[in-house]
Amino acid sequence: MRISITDRCDFRCVYCMSEEMTFLPRTQILSLEEIYLLAQCFTELGVGKIRITGGEPLVRRGAIELLQKMGSLPLLNELVMTTNGSHLEHSAAQLKQAHVARLNISLDTLDAQKFKELTRTGELDVVLRGIDAAINAGFKGIKINAVILKNRNHHEVVDLVQFAIDKGIDISFIEEMPLGLIDAHDRAVAYYSSDQIRDDLAKQFNLRHISETTSGPSDYYRIQGAPIKVGFISPHSHNFCSTCNRVRLTVEGRLLLCLGNEHSVDLKAAVRDPKNTPDDLKQIIIDAMQIKPEKHEFDLNEQPIILRHMSVTGG
Ligand code: SAM
Ligand code: SF4
Repeated sequence: MRISITDRCDFRCVYCMSEEMTFLPRTQILSLEEIYLLAQCFTELGVGKIRITGGEPLVRRGAIELLQKMGSLPLLNELVMTTNGSHLEHSAAQLKQAHVARLNISLDTLDAQKFKELTRTGELDVVLRGIDAAINAGFKGIKINAVILKNRNHHEVVDLVQFAIDKGIDISFIEEMPLGLIDAHDRAVAYYSSDQIRDDLAKQFNLRHISETTSGPSDYYRIQGAPIKVGFISPHSHNFCSTCNRVRLTVEGRLLLCLGNEHSVDLKAAVRDPKNTPDDLKQIIIDAMQIKPEKHEFDLNEQPIILRHMSVTGG
């Protein structure tokens, strides 16, 4: 499962946020103690893997301490995190000590100017130093996530894979999802499919499809002569709903049963109700699974039906 520990971010990526994004007031978000208690309930119900995400998880004060506590949950198999990399230079070693096993780090371009355009506020150099710090810290796995947009960064897919090969880390390409209203581009015009990316890569690399999965939505390939995997997350062109067993806890305490639907249960109300014991919370979570929808309904040519931005959902 994914747990978003903040909706705030030091970046404003063009596909994730509008320029004037407002964040939730503090009273509306789960406290770190509430997040920990809910994480404990989920692990006791059999959830083996928790991905911490956001917003940018490392901008929340107390994030490292929370990760340290979560990393020691006795029934948790794997604690992993998705980050924009902006704080890794100074936090990578602490995250490793907190038993974070794997990191997904977002990186859409290797061009400093383009990086600034896509993230609005980010500095490429800082993120590249963060990636090196993560590699030096010795995580079990590091993967780059790149959202590819036509005419913005689609011509960089070969360079991004070469970067991943040079660093010895995996990479996944993501089709942009229509979550929340954005003002930077028309999503239908910016759509660049995983098939197009694969065709571009095939001109440079010898790709071989593999059946290996990480139980996530990525479809993986290996590159001949290189030790890395290349993944494709294709919500539009290759719907992955039939194999999805994920749930997401937003920082507002909504347990979302699907990225592309509004089916949810309010766990903030449940965790704040003094009458509820941990066993009651677990029963509420079990009952919530009954409303997990069959599939998402993304349509690039329509206005988004999901008005939550990815930073609120917890990508
Ligand atoms: N701030 C962290 C980061 O950027 O890695 C974690 C949260 S971010 C919402 C998680 C992932 O969602 C990132 O890899 C980001 O590129 C991706 N993402 C954000 N908005 C998206 C969208 N509209 N479609 C597809 N992926 C998106
Ligand atoms: Fe922030 Fe991540 Fe969204 Fe970019 S994708 S704005 S880094 S939350």
